[in-house]
Amino acid sequence: MYRFVDVILPLPLADTYTYGIPAEHLDKVAIGCRVTVPLGKKKHYTALVARLHNDEPKEYNIRPFDELLDETPIVTSTQLKLWQWIAKYYICSLGEIFKAAVPQGLKGEFKPRTEQRIRVSKIYSSPVAMSLIQQSLSRAPRQKRLLNTFLQMTADGCEVAKHKLLETAQVSPNICKELIDKGILESYEVEIGRLALHNAPVVAQNKLNEAQQKAYDQINDTFQSKNVTLLHGVTSAGKTEIYIHLINKAINSGKQVLYMLPEIALTKQIIERLQRVFGNRIGLYHSKFSDSERVEIWKKQLSDNPYDVILGVRSSLFLPFTHLGLIIVDEEHENSYKQQEPAPRYNARNAAIVLASLHNAKTLLGTATPSIESYYNATKGKYGLVELTKRYRSLQLPQVEVVDIQDMQHRKKMTGPFSDTLVEAMEHAIKENKQIILFQNRRGYAPMLECRTCGWTPRCKHCDVSLTLHKSAHKLTCHYCGYSIPAPKICPNCEQNNFVNLGYGTEKIEDELSRIFPQARIERMDLDTTKTRAAYEKIINNFQQGGTNILIGTQMVSKGLDFDNVALVGILNADILLNYPDFRATERAFQLMSQVAGRAGRKNDTGKVILQTRQPDSPIIPLIVRNDYTRFYDNQLKERLMFHYPPFYRLVYVYMKHRDLRTLEQFSEIMGQRMRQIFDYRVLGPDLPPVARVQQMYIRKIMLKVENNLSQYKINDALLALQQEMLDDKRFKSVTIYYDVDPL
Ligand SMILES: [Zn+2]
Ligand SMILES: [Zn+2]
Repeated sequence: MYRFVDVILPLPLADTYTYGIPAEHLDKVAIGCRVTVPLGKKKHYTALVARLHNDEPKEYNIRPFDELLDETPIVTSTQLKLWQWIAKYYICSLGEIFKAAVPQGLKGEFKPRTEQRIRVSKIYSSPVAMSLIQQSLSRAPRQKRLLNTFLQMTADGCEVAKHKLLETAQVSPNICKELIDKGILESYEVEIGRLALHNAPVVAQNKLNEAQQKAYDQINDTFQSKNVTLLHGVTSAGKTEIYIHLINKAINSGKQVLYMLPEIALTKQIIERLQRVFGNRIGLYHSKFSDSERVEIWKKQLSDNPYDVILGVRSSLFLPFTHLGLIIVDEEHENSYKQQEPAPRYNARNAAIVLASLHNAKTLLGTATPSIESYYNATKGKYGLVELTKRYRSLQLPQVEVVDIQDMQHRKKMTGPFSDTLVEAMEHAIKENKQIILFQNRRGYAPMLECRTCGWTPRCKHCDVSLTLHKSAHKLTCHYCGYSIPAPKICPNCEQNNFVNLGYGTEKIEDELSRIFPQARIERMDLDTTKTRAAYEKIINNFQQGGTNILIGTQMVSKGLDFDNVALVGILNADILLNYPDFRATERAFQLMSQVAGRAGRKNDTGKVILQTRQPDSPIIPLIVRNDYTRFYDNQLKERLMFHYPPFYRLVYVYMKHRDLRTLEQFSEIMGQRMRQIFDYRVLGPDLPPVARVQQMYIRKIMLKVENNLSQYKINDALLALQQEMLDDKRFKSVTIYYDVDPL
């Protein structure tokens, strides 16, 4: 019998903590159960048991834990193994993962949601008895109305939700109570799900066409010898249909499937499609769900009757699975699979591959524009590779026309951000009753406000960035920390009213567009207009049903939405993407523009894409025009090799943060020197990150580039030892260090 537990606290602590097991719990506590524990003098936390043992620690007095919260574990041993891998690989603590992985509600009390239902008492259930009652109620018109409404609502004579009955009958709860007191109706409580699944009839999967069938067979073939396969299929190749067949195959052989999407923005269309095929065997899990909904799914996955299929965003990876057979990572190239802030800064695509291997399951990565890393792994034989080059129903890829913004400006053929070419194409599309998507990867009204008299521009007082003007809200906002002030009417520096808005955000584009096309119905899809799921879905529905002529959006519009009537896509300014100071800028630009372009041309039409840029000679532009992924990949690979970047080298960014600039500069200099002593030429920096001050904290960054064949774990161990050494220095004990392994 074990006497001690090591527990994970929901705190960024490097280690687990040891507690004694109180006598009454000696044979009851198991790994993965929650316990409450005292910490320090006053605090108590809900912690998770990670280990049971008899190694009495010598350093300090061991206290017993307070209470055992679970009879059975809420986290499986496989889940804990995944956590341990994430902590080790991404250099973070188990506590940080515990916090991120487990819904808040599992750290407290859980109550299932219930609903009051009404039914007829058994003794009155015969038609004869019922008609007698109806007669007897002739002097109680409201009771009679309620009863009649009940009978209408329950044609088959069973039950109805109390709140719905009262609402329909338009009577007060008292009337209902009177009927219950008379023994005619009964009220009772039922536990209900929070998933609000459609009860839509379950339809069979569609038949695969020849190309899809071939890809499906190839995927199954590669799974014989590989654990991971990359499905590279052009936009509109019908990848989802292939996924559906793979899911069916897996669940028919008694396995579970996890289907991951990069964000909720993508899910609506796919959810509906999958629900039609899999009905209530599929559960959803995503960040816009309430915590109690997430707790409910978590518990269901631990029960004897879990969902066979989970459709979710990156955090769905942390759900309990008991017999996982397949993980599908759709749009595997997407940045949002990587968590940036806070820790754990994991990449869900890569963690999914690890999770699958813990279950002896397979992973399918799918995309039209593979990440360089995944395509490299596939062409080198580490992953299987299946390519699907034909669009579904022989759709043609869209025609891409490049417009030189500078040339157009010289010839006075630009109206604000719109070239005459684009405006004419839009006029034509609207006349033909076709729809348009405009892409601009900047939200807000103007990225910069400037005083024409003195040159003053508003800046965030916590971060090293200029504030973005949001005109409709009359606000200047920091896109890093959310700091927001009213837009000034006069310049605080020279007291003149002579502002100019530099650059174009989506809001300003919407403004200018409604001036050019006053009759058109225009909508905007960006972070500001999609704060709730309902708002997001409304925009999508309006567009899908043809209520909107022009949809303007940030990268949100690039993400796998399929619309049938889009004749034209406009990329307003490719330069914002191309000029980004990062080695992945070209890759991201190619992916985004190819994906946005892929929204054009459905059904019987070849779509058109107008790509506006000041750099028509940039080598990437013709590759986007020809949709030439292979050439793009070859070029990128050469550059990556030459400049020591992934997939040939792995990167670790070491971030250092402090309120005091001098302390931080001193610290980062010494850190850089010490790192050079350990890692030699592989160290770059310290440097200023693109935004060098956020929320009053100064930030420095050191880049570590390591050859792919060196052990990441050894490197991480060396970094942690160095961190310990540095923070032991009294001058630096309040410096924050954190790591971004495989940054995006
Ligand atoms: Zn001024
Ligand atoms: Zn800020």
